[in-house]
Order: sequence, then structure tokens, then C-alpha cells
Amino acid sequence: MPASSLCDAHINSSDKSLNLDDWVTSGKLGSREAVLVFRTNILNPKTRKMLLETTHVQVDRKKGDGQACSTPNEMGPKGDLSPTIGKTPQNNPTHGKLYVSVNKLTKFNNVDNFATKSHDSFSSCEEVSSDGDETQYNESKSRAKHHKNNNLFMAEIEDNLAKESGHDSITASQSNLGINTSEEDQEEASSEEDNECGINMPAHQLQITYKFIQTETKLLRKIFNVHGLTEVQGESNFNLLWTGVHMKLDTLRNLSLYQRVNHFPRSYELTRKDRLYKNIERMQHLRGMKHFDIVPQSFILPLESRDLIFAHNKHRGPWIVKPAASSRGRGIFIVNSPDQIPQDEQVLVSKYIVDPLCIDGHKCDLRVYVLVTSFDPLIIYLYEEGIVRLATVRYDRNADNLWNPCMHLCNYSINKYHSDYIRSSDAHDEDVGHKWTLSALLRHLKLQGCDTHLLMLNIEDVIIKAVLACAQTIISACRMFVPNVNNCFELYGFDILIDNTLKPWLLEVNLSPSMGVDSPLDTKVKACLVTDLLTCVGIPALSPEMRSHYDSKTTRLRSSSCQRQTDTTESNTSTHRSTKIKKKSLGLAPLTQEDQRILRSARLQYTRRGGFVRVFPTDDSMQRYGHFLDSANGIPISTPTVQGQTFQTLVTQHNYNQMLHSNLYCPGSRCIKDDNCQESRIRQYERALETDSEIPFLKKQIVEKCEEEGRRLRKQMLKKIGSGSTLTHFQARQTFCLYLESVLRRLTQEPKDSHEKIILKFLNKYGGGVKPPILFRNTQNVSKARSAMVAKLLGDFLEIYKRDTESYVDSFDHFGMIPTSAYSLFLMHAQESDLEAVLTHHTNITGIMPFLYNRIGFSVPPTPPIPSGLHGFLRALPAMVSTSGVVRDVSKYDGYFKNCDKNYENVQDISLRSRSTRGSK
Ligand code: ADP
Repeated sequence: MPASSLCDAHINSSDKSLNLDDWVTSGKLGSREAVLVFRTNILNPKTRKMLLETTHVQVDRKKGDGQACSTPNEMGPKGDLSPTIGKTPQNNPTHGKLYVSVNKLTKFNNVDNFATKSHDSFSSCEEVSSDGDETQYNESKSRAKHHKNNNLFMAEIEDNLAKESGHDSITASQSNLGINTSEEDQEEASSEEDNECGINMPAHQLQITYKFIQTETKLLRKIFNVHGLTEVQGESNFNLLWTGVHMKLDTLRNLSLYQRVNHFPRSYELTRKDRLYKNIERMQHLRGMKHFDIVPQSFILPLESRDLIFAHNKHRGPWIVKPAASSRGRGIFIVNSPDQIPQDEQVLVSKYIVDPLCIDGHKCDLRVYVLVTSFDPLIIYLYEEGIVRLATVRYDRNADNLWNPCMHLCNYSINKYHSDYIRSSDAHDEDVGHKWTLSALLRHLKLQGCDTHLLMLNIEDVIIKAVLACAQTIISACRMFVPNVNNCFELYGFDILIDNTLKPWLLEVNLSPSMGVDSPLDTKVKACLVTDLLTCVGIPALSPEMRSHYDSKTTRLRSSSCQRQTDTTESNTSTHRSTKIKKKSLGLAPLTQEDQRILRSARLQYTRRGGFVRVFPTDDSMQRYGHFLDSANGIPISTPTVQGQTFQTLVTQHNYNQMLHSNLYCPGSRCIKDDNCQESRIRQYERALETDSEIPFLKKQIVEKCEEEGRRLRKQMLKKIGSGSTLTHFQARQTFCLYLESVLRRLTQEPKDSHEKIILKFLNKYGGGVKPPILFRNTQNVSKARSAMVAKLLGDFLEIYKRDTESYVDSFDHFGMIPTSAYSLFLMHAQESDLEAVLTHHTNITGIMPFLYNRIGFSVPPTPPIPSGLHGFLRALPAMVSTSGVVRDVSKYDGYFKNCDKNYENVQDISLRSRSTRGSK
């Protein structure tokens, strides 16, 4: 079985005669069926360089109507429907590998009976916004792009966050916000290099484009660019649309045959925690609990409060409380009893699994990647590699520890702030620190005598059942809104918790699993995942002329009918005739043209699957899941039907699931039985992921600040402010953001109890989505875990704040404002104390803190003077947040002011004097 069917087809990356014809598959370059191939090896600068030196490609666009214009693709025989079977990487032992577990507590000796998943011997195989439905961010990117200087701070914050957390956060500001620094130069140099490489790729010649909406990561962008895809924005037409949020129905309706988008309509049925639970609960009622006991018992509050109390009286807690549409551990807390849950917002309350699988005493959970390329017929792949996330603090069931998120939650976005969090620094260290790979976990468990075969089959089962439970609504939406069968695909991030009996529990399904990377290991897994995903779903390698032809055809069809269009271009009459004859001789129903297209498409896709393992259909899938499908049309049924009535009876009857299964797995067909049987699938999950060429860890370099320069510029800024210049909203927000960023860094490096309290108080008053969880607010525990939690809350606050700040960008320098370029330079070198001094001085002179409010055009309440001195600004901060927007007497609000010393009175004097001078000016 090939780890990647592409492996064998591609020549080794060290071979100088690399043929660009290898960058398309499923058809010859320029033909209608050809799709682009994506590989990780060109992420490596050396391979890229070699490509630049040795390759050229010419796509004769006039021949783009299906005729070949270059040498045959080496993926396998053209027109041959059988999968490409190549070398079997599972025979490659991993030699001399040391298995080191968490905190390097245990060591296993050389395990050489585990093979590796080989990626990119020419091919490849596999966190803001992010994971989850809450992926939101401002789309003012293009506007921001024009204001390089203004955006200096955003990139700076990203860097600082990355430095502090090692996390490659995904925000709008990330790579679109240019900066005037050496770092930017470096970034641009590398992106120039990427583009140069891309210029020689077929995708560039064919002018294939991609568009990001409300999501992006450096990794995705890099992969697209090096493969020659060009980014487009606004209303421009695209070949691939990658969005972090649900699709607009209008966008879906207008898709052309060749366009691909990374979501299905109504995917929220799977990806919203509450919807997912309700869909599965319905299946429990309809099909029996024993078939769908895959999620912890849950209740949606406040609606189901009584049911929760009833359940609690039957089987006592603890319960885990989650906001219905949030992600990355935001707002989650654990309670012992329902009366500890506030009733003011809609939350999902789930039975807390108290006996999780632990590695060296640390709770862990899994992130596995699931690709659905079609809902009817249902085609589901599970990526061979996943991520195992470990909690930083050793697990202890004692109720006193329920407050501790670094013990009970495995989210990276929380644990990364814990000072004991360990990141592996080498792509080969798959079982070091607090992030492992799935294959490393399986090998670890196998060594301990666990039945990993059964575990993985159960995980496949949970995935398939979750998709079946939600499919019906998605299929209806596809029929209504998606014009072409291959337009949509979706990569879901399934979060799975394994209990100590090795039973997997589905926790949630993420809409846009994070493609951010925090380590070389993360980079390897995600780069392989993305390249394999793109190859598998298939971005048609069509020339612009062919695309306009399809665009006009789409418009014509759309105006005449709303029916889904099917790609008949793949049909070949003589092949069909011979297939029909053959099917008949095998006792199978004759195939319609649509059946043939689906079958051919599924087979071609399978040959491109890379590291994806098809889990539905498989040889036994009809036997296992057939009874959950409507007997007439094969649609998964999740609503009670009146006897004899089938789902959407008015729609032409078909049973694509049955058709596909019979034709793929019928006796005597060239079926994929061998390399898709249970044993092969499990072997693939257990193998370590290997790549031929190293994938560089895409981490930004940090610009060194010059302390002295910072001090010099600070004096300049203070002087300017003193003589009448004011900071714009944007500049003030930039400064505040960078200041809090420094505080955040300090909290994780040298936790300080008093500062944590101040931050908690500030966030509590500020409100919004960054309020500390209820139990946490009361905890007196001073510990690394508490610091981590405070840092996480502050990190979340900063993320939202930065997003909001983008809408304040100054488009030009105006009278009375500190020039953008001068201020950007200051921000570049400013230390925490410099930022604090400017914020304090500016507040004391202007008497307001507009950066604390999101209301341009509304009046900002006046602020009393801030005392000077180290951390004076920080200590005053909680008292400065006005929830009512009225003028306050701060001394009533904060004890800090009551104890103010002379210093405070002096400052008050000075600032009052300065304000009156300004007023008289
Ligand atoms: P989010 O989308 O915010 O990450 P999850 O549902 O994935 O929310 O839960 C976050 C973490 O909480 C998981 O990593 C897991 O460790 C823990 N968790 C969630 N639900 C349960 C549960 N029912 N029992 C035990 N632990 C849970």
C-alpha cells in the first residue's frame, strides 16, 4: 500500500531532471481532467533553487482544450482507473530512534519495527483565527496593506506573541501588514523567492488564483505561492477560495465548474457544539443509544436546566461548561454541580470524563483531520497523521483541582502559556514534550500492550457516525446551493478524547482547523496535510481560456436552470460502453452517465489521496452503516420518516452510495480492497510521517530592539505630546497593545501575583468574551497554572483588540498628529517602560483614554490623572474602565487611589495645569 500514491510516481527531489509535467495529475498538462499536484519538497529552499535552475514549462493555451501539450504525467497510466500502487514505505524501519516521553521521564529503546509514512520522495502526504466557528476577523486587509508604517506595531505584536508563545497566530495582520523593518525585508525576500519559484510552475502559467477570506496562515500562503498560485482579492474570480468562516450562499450559487471552496453549506450542523450534540442525540433516539454513544451526555442551558438537574441527581458531576460557539478553550470551566453554572448565557454543559487516557500522568486528547469531498455519495478520508495534545500539569481527579485549566484542558492555546510547557524542537521528535503525533501515541500504546487496532477502528466509527448524523441537512443545502458536484470540499478538525478504557469520545468538530505552526513537528504534519489535501481534492489545471468558456457556460446554465451541473467532460463514450458491458457481466446495474462520472471521479481522487486514508466507503462500510442510509436513495437518514416515505422523494431516485460501493468493491473489479482494508489502514496510522526534504519551520525572526534608541525616541515623543501633538486613535491603540503585550510576556516569564490580579480585574471590568471563568475568578491559588490562565485571557483580549484596531488605521498624516513614520520608529524600539511613559503622559494631558473604548464618534468619558512611577499605569488601569460611560470619581473605585501618595497629587497638579494651558491655547 502506498503511503502516498504519488511517491512512486515522482522522481527523487535530488534528481536534476525534474519534470514539471509531474506537477499535474489525473490528466495531461493542459487537458480538462488535469489537476495540480502539491508537494512539501518545494517548501525547502534547496529544492526550490534546484527547480529554478532546471525547469521550464510551456503551456500552450490554445491547446488547452483537452489535448496534451507535454509529456505524460507519471502518476500512473492515463485513463487507467486503477489506483497507482507504488513502493510501500511501511517497510522502511525507523532506525535508532529514541522514544522520549513527556518531561523525558521515560525512555523506550529503539523501536525498529515501526515503519514510516514516506512523504515527498516527490510527493507529500500530513491554530486566529483558527479553530472553530468563532474565526472572525476584520477584512480591512487591503486597506491596511497601504499603510505600512501604521502597521508596524501589528507585525511587532505578532512577533512578540510568537516569541513568547512560539505560536504562529493567524490574524488579519499577519502577513498583509507590511512593516519597515529588517524583518519585513526578510519576509519580502523570502516571498519574492517563493514567487520566483512559483513563476515556473504550471499553476502560474495557467494563472490559477486563490483567495483568502477571514483566514490565513503563513503556511497556507507559502504553499500556494511556491506552487505558482496567485492571490486575488475583492471581487476577482478565483480558482480556490479558502475561508475561515461559513460560505455565503450567493458565493456558492455562482461557482463555476472549475472552482473549489473549502466548505460545504450548513457545515455548522457538525461544527457548532450545540448543533452537533443535537444531531447525534437525534440519532441516539432514532437508531438506538448503543450505536450513537459517541459523545458525552450534554445539555444546552438555560433551556435544558431541569434535564441537567435530573441527570445530575441520577449520576453526579462533574460537568464541563462551554460557550456554544466558541473555540480554543475560551470560556470553558468545570463544575461539580449544576448550581455553580451561571444562567445568563447559552452554554453547552457536558458530562466530564473523569478517567481520561493519560501519558505519563498527563491528560491528552487528539486532533484528527477529516476530509469530506462529497456528501452524496459520502466520501470521507481520515488523515494518517494527527496531533496529540497533552495538558501541562499532571492529572489529578481531586475536585479541588477542577479550576486548573492546565490540568483539565488540553488546548494548546491555554497550555502554551504555562512555563513548564515543552515544545519539541525537531521535526523527528514526535513524542517529546506536550505535543505528540498520533502515530507516536499509537506506537507508545502498542508497546504498552494496548489494542491500537481496535482504538483506530473505533475512532473511524465515531467520525463516520458524526458525519452521518449531520449529513442530511448538508445534502439538502448542497442540492439547493451548490451548482457543481466537485465545488466543495471540507477539512474538519475532530477533537477526540480517549478514556482509560480506550473508548474514543467526540468532543467537537472544528470548522477551520488551525494551520498555524508552533514547532518543526507541527510544520511537518500540517504542510504534509495541506499539500495532500490540495492534491486530493484536485484544483483543475485549466487554462484561462477554458475557464472563461466554463464561466460563460455556467452563466447560461444558471439562467436556464437551477439544477446542479455535472461535469460531462470526463465522459468518454467508448469507455462508458465498455464499462456498461463489463458491469452487466458482473451482475451490477448499468451505470448512468452521472454514475460513471461519480465513479471515475472517486477513483481518480483515490489515486491522489496522498496520506489520506479513505474510511468511507470501505469494503465493509455498507455492511456496517448501510442500515443508517435510506434504502431507496442512500441518503443518511437522521429525521423520523413516515412509513414508506423516503427523503426528498420528489428528487430523481438514485443511490450513489450503493452504486459507488458496489462498483468499487464488487468481486472481480479492480477494487482497492488490498490497500484500503482494515489492516492496511491501521498500519498507515501507526507509521511515522517522513519527508524527503526537510520542511523549514516558518517562524518569523524577531527584530532586536535598541534600548537606547527607544529611550531617545521616547523623550522626543513626550516632548511632542507636551507641546500639543496628540496620538491618533490608531497610534494610542497601537501603543496600548504593545504595552499589554509586554505585560503578557512578563506574566509568562516571571509571574507576579499583584500584576495578575490587576489584569484579571481589568479584564473582568472590560467584559466581552474575555471574562475569567466563574470559578477561576475566585481562586486564590497562586501558581504557574493561574499565571497561564491569566496570560491566556490577556492573549485572547489582545487578539480581539488587535482586530478592532485595524479599523482605526490612519490613512494620512494630519495636522497636530505625530507623523506616522516617526511614531512607528518609536514603537519599533520602545520597551515596556517607554510605552507606559507615553501612555501616562498622553492620558494626563488629554484627560481621556480613547483606546479603551470601541466607539469612534461617541464621547469618551474623562479620565482622572494617572500617577507616575513604575507600573503606575498598569495599577491604575482597572479603575479607568468605565462600563457606564459616565465621569467617575476613581478614588471610589479603586483602593489604589485611596492610598495615593504625594506623587499622585503632584501628577494631578501638573496635568490639570497642562490641561488648562491647552484649553486657553
Ligand atoms: P474548545 O473548542 O474550546 O477547544 P473542546 O470541546 O475541544 O473546546 O474542549 C476543550 C478541552 O476540554 C479539550 O481539550 C478536552 O481536554 C477538555 N474536555 C472537553 N470536553 C470534555 C469532557 N466532556 N470530558 C473531559 N474533558 C473534556
